[in-house]
Amino acid sequence: MTMMPEHDAEVVIAGAGPAGLWLAAELRLAGVPTIVLEQAPERGPYTRGLGVHARTLEVLAMRGAADTLVRQGRKMPRWHFGMLPSLVDFSVLDTPFPFVLAYPQPLLEDLLERRATELGTTVLRGYTVTGLSQDESSVRIEAACPSGPRAFTASFAVGCDGAHSTVREAAGIGFPGTDSSLFGYLGDVTLDAPPEHGTVTIASRGGTLIIAPLPDGRFRVSGFDPKGQDPGVTLTINRLRASVQRAAGRDFGLRDATWMSRFGNATRQAENYRSGRVLLAGDAAHIHMPAGGVGLNVAVQDAMNLGWKLAAVVQDRAADDLLDTYHAERHPVGADLLNNTLAQTALIAAFSAEGLALRDVLADLMNRTPDMSAHLAADMSGLAVSYPPADLAAHPLTGQRAPDQPADGTSLFPLLADGRAVLLDFRGTLDRAVKTARDLGIPTRTADAWPGQHDVGAAIIRPDGYVWWATEHADDTVTAALHALGARFP
Ligand SMILES: Cc1cc2nc3c(=O)[nH]c(=O)nc-3n(C[C@H](O)[C@H](O)[C@H](O)COP(=O)(O)OP(=O)(O)OC[C@H]3O[C@@H](n4cnc5c(N)ncnc54)[C@H](O)[C@@H]3O)c2cc1C
Repeated sequence: MTMMPEHDAEVVIAGAGPAGLWLAAELRLAGVPTIVLEQAPERGPYTRGLGVHARTLEVLAMRGAADTLVRQGRKMPRWHFGMLPSLVDFSVLDTPFPFVLAYPQPLLEDLLERRATELGTTVLRGYTVTGLSQDESSVRIEAACPSGPRAFTASFAVGCDGAHSTVREAAGIGFPGTDSSLFGYLGDVTLDAPPEHGTVTIASRGGTLIIAPLPDGRFRVSGFDPKGQDPGVTLTINRLRASVQRAAGRDFGLRDATWMSRFGNATRQAENYRSGRVLLAGDAAHIHMPAGGVGLNVAVQDAMNLGWKLAAVVQDRAADDLLDTYHAERHPVGADLLNNTLAQTALIAAFSAEGLALRDVLADLMNRTPDMSAHLAADMSGLAVSYPPADLAAHPLTGQRAPDQPADGTSLFPLLADGRAVLLDFRGTLDRAVKTARDLGIPTRTADAWPGQHDVGAAIIRPDGYVWWATEHADDTVTAALHALGARFP
C-alpha cells in the first residue's frame, strides 16, 4: 500500500528501547518513513540489560553494527544458568561470537539510536503514547507531547513500549500470565575484596548470588534473599550488603552503589503479537524474571524478524499475510524464553535442603556432560532458534539459521548489510535463476559449500539471516522457487 498523504509516517513505533530502535533502523534501511515516540525526555543512565548474547551480535554484525560493541564490551566465555555453581560454557558455540558480552544497555541503546537516526528515523522524546485506534487503512496514535496532546497517523503502529505497554492495552491484546511472587535484588557496586575469578555464583541456605565484573572495573551483585521478599521495602546499601553476607558469608568489601534495584518474576506473554495494523515486540510482548540476561536479546531479535517483513508489506512488495509469520515465528521463541526463565527462577529460589541438593546434582551433571552445557548455551545465546517450515517436504535447512559462512570472497553476514535477501549459488550453475533473482532485486553470490553435512546447490537467505528456501538441485528449481517466492522478497 502506498503512503496516504495525511499520514505522519508509514510506521509509528512507541518506545525507544532496544526493540524500538533496532526496528526503526531496519525499517529505515529499507527506506520506510518511521517515527519513534519515546516518553522519556532523555535516556536513563542505569544498566538493566548487561549481557549481549551471540545471536544478537550476529544480528548486529549482519548490518555492520557489531564492531564497536565487541571492541568495547567485556567478553565472558562462561555465564550462569539459574545461578548454578557450574557456569555454562559459551566458548564452544559455532559463531564468530562465542561468549556473552558484558555491555551496558544504555550504551547499546546509544549505539542503536545513532544508527536509527543516521538512517533517517525521527525519534521524538518526551512523547508519551496514550492510546490508539485503527481502521482498515490506518492507525491513529494518540500522544501526550511537550506541546500538548497530539495524534499521529500511520499505516502501522508497533508497541515497543516495554512491560506496561500502552499499545498492547489499547489494541486489546491479552497478556496472560502470573504476577511477581519472588523478588531478586541487584546493585552495581565497588568491591574492595572481589572474588578472584571473573563471574562467581554462590548458593546457601542464606540465599543465591551472582557476582559479575562490569566493563568499567566495578561489579554487578545480583541475587535472591529469602529474607528480603517484602516488595514494599526499599533497597539500601546496608540491606544489599546484608543480603550478600547472608548468601556468601562475607560482603566482598561492597560499597558505593551507583544503582540498586529489585526485580520480580512476573511472567506474561501477549496472546498475539499482531492485531490488524498493530504489532508488538520486545518486553511489550513478553516479560519474565531477568534470569540469564536474555530479554534485551530477544527484543532485538523480535525486531530483526519483524523489520524486513513490515517493510516489504508497507512497500507493497509482499502480501499482508507475511506479517502473520511474525507471530507464528516469534511467539514460540517468547514461550521458550518464559519457560527457560521460569526454570531458572526455580533454581535461583531453591533454598531448602532438597532445592540445594537439586542444584548440586544439576551442576555436577553440567560439569560431567559438556553436551548439556552446550545445549543451554545454544538456547540462551539465541543460536538454537529456528523457524521450522509447515511444509514437511521442504529442504531440511529451511528455517535454519544461516551461519557466517565464506561467500563471494568475503562471508555471508556482510552480504546482508543492506537488509536484502541473498541467493547463494554453491555450484556456479544458476544461469537463469541469477537473471530471475536480479529482476526481483535479489543479489546472487557464489559460495563454496554449506558448512556441515548438508547437500545444497542453492539457498535463499532471508534478510534476517535464516534460510528461506534451499535445494539440492540447480537452475530450473531455483528459478521456479524464485518466481513462487518472488513477491515476498525485499
Ligand atoms: C534488573 C534487570 C536486569 C536485566 N538484565 C538483562 C541482561 O543482562 N540481558 C538482557 O538481555 N536483558 C536484561 N534485562 C531485560 C532487558 O532490560 C529488557 O528485556 C529490554 O530492555 C527490553 O527492551 P524493549 O525495547 O522491549 O523495552 P524497554 O527497554 O523497556 O523499552 C521500552 C521503552 O518504551 C518507553 N515507553 C514506555 N511506555 C511508553 C509510552 N506510553 N509512550 C512512549 N514510550 C513509552 C520506555 O520509556 C522505554 O524507553 C534485564 C532487566 C532487568 C529489570
